[in-house]
Amino acid sequence: MLPVAIVGAGPVGAVAALALAARGVQARLFDAREAAGGKPDRRSIALSWGTRLALERLGVWTRIARPDPITRVSVSERGAFGSIEFTCADLGTPALGFVVDYGDLAQACSRALDEAGIATAWSTPVAAVEPGTGSLSLVLARGDGAPRVAARCVVMADGAEGIEGGPLPAKAGQAYRQVALVGDVGCERFTPGRAFERFAGSGPLALLPRAGHHACVWVLEPDRAQALLDAGPAALSQALERAAGPGFGSMRWLTSPALVPLVLRRAGPSTDPRVVAIGNASQVLHPVAGQGFNLGVRDALSLAAAWPLRLPTSVASDAALLRALAAFTKARRVDRGFTVATTDAIARMTAIDDPLAAAVRGIGLAAIDLLPALRRRALETLVFGAG
Ligand SMILES: Cc1cc2nc3c(=O)[nH]c(=O)nc-3n(C[C@H](O)[C@H](O)[C@H](O)COP(=O)(O)OP(=O)(O)OC[C@H]3O[C@@H](n4cnc5c(N)ncnc54)[C@H](O)[C@@H]3O)c2cc1C
Repeated sequence: MLPVAIVGAGPVGAVAALALAARGVQARLFDAREAAGGKPDRRSIALSWGTRLALERLGVWTRIARPDPITRVSVSERGAFGSIEFTCADLGTPALGFVVDYGDLAQACSRALDEAGIATAWSTPVAAVEPGTGSLSLVLARGDGAPRVAARCVVMADGAEGIEGGPLPAKAGQAYRQVALVGDVGCERFTPGRAFERFAGSGPLALLPRAGHHACVWVLEPDRAQALLDAGPAALSQALERAAGPGFGSMRWLTSPALVPLVLRRAGPSTDPRVVAIGNASQVLHPVAGQGFNLGVRDALSLAAAWPLRLPTSVASDAALLRALAAFTKARRVDRGFTVATTDAIARMTAIDDPLAAAVRGIGLAAIDLLPALRRRALETLVFGAG
């Protein structure tokens, strides 16, 4: 019987397996994807400095192709006074974070798994997790007689669209009335290392530095996003210029933007104490604060930290394992709760397209900027998490 089975070898599942291996626990991963196949995911995401430190310790960091450092983050409100500028000098770190392609990150994780000798069953979707006595059964959907694998505990790291039912935590949530236009944008004036977040009316616009251009996440109402896409590349670029404000010169989309629906989803407690969820399997966030993956990494590290150093081999003595899983769930309450709540609050506040709301947001930014303790706390929470 496996001590730990991890469903999903995406970046969060991989980080959990690597962190567990560093504590001497051999997990086995199962993933529906082909090992190195599929369409490369060129979507860019921002990793915090805290995430970078973790990936470095686990042997992932040096395998990631071309990470772009973020040394300065400017947060501003379109058409209102009030802004914040964070720099790495505020934190005393060489960078506040890094921008990487999701596909490169996933590939670096799977190479690190191979290097650490962690067994990963690719092209192996898990169809169900069934409770048993003192163990759980993974039902594999491989088309060769639905084989089963027994495990003492199961970590669900199967992302936003993962399996549900049986003892698994049920996911509840709601869709935002917003979508994100995601793609690469070139501009006349580019400053390396500088990331921008601009509250631009009906949603935030994030521009992350990526290899001489910006990776763009522009949040809009669905009808407006569709109308802009229908209007064609030139009109879409002009609308982006207006939202971004002066400072970038002329802008143009380098890739045709993908339209991503946005949801807030949280998994409730599982009905079996041997099952826990991490990463997007536990919570799916609005991208406004760029926290989804960073929070998932903290889930994964916390799970490994809670693991009993000496796990009795007898199934009959599972008290230490069950205590560890309960301790993990308890330890994650504050960071998860705070990150979900603040991300949701920021998403809602920045969605109000109204001059009064814009003025209030501008005053809020100015207030955070003027209060050093609040400013530092906000930055530390973004980079290292809450609690
Ligand atoms: C527009 C946008 C921008 C974002 N920007 C940022 C950012 O800047 N910073 C940040 O930290 N986060 C960001 N995020 C969030 C981040 O992308 C996610 O939090 C992260 O991808 C979650 O990783 P994961 O490993 O939990 O899930 P996934 O990457 O989805 O991995 C899940 C894995 O499980 C596997 N799987 C699924 N079902 C099964 C099954 N039944 N059996 C076996 N395997 C299965 C899948 O094949 C996959 O490999 C952003 C999200 C969006 C939408």
